[in-house]
Amino acid sequence: MSQPRRVEISEDGGLSILWDDGHQAGYAPARLRLACKCAVCEDEWSGERRLRADSIPAGIRALGVKPVGRYGLQIDWSDGHSTGIYTFDRLRVLCECPACLTAPRG
Ligand SMILES: [Zn+2]
Ligand SMILES: [Zn+2]
Repeated sequence: MSQPRRVEISEDGGLSILWDDGHQAGYAPARLRLACKCAVCEDEWSGERRLRADSIPAGIRALGVKPVGRYGLQIDWSDGHSTGIYTFDRLRVLCECPACLTAPRG
């Protein structure tokens, strides 16, 4: 599993992660907020989304980020939400840089 070498909040309030394999990833704040998989945002049994894209405030941004064990990150969002944990595996999949968008996933 990839580990982040450096994690920063980017100017737009999203995240910028440099992975230990040298990959530089960027995450837009609204998309990352929507990807939250905590029990508030997604039903853990059915997998049904409870969080709707149009319920995310405009201008949402990450206020803080901290490591959770050796497997993920917890993000404090400007809408007061902070219960979601983003695992490193998931963050790798969520990367939207041109290289990841064109590379086969798996
Ligand atoms: Zn959540
Ligand atoms: Zn990428």
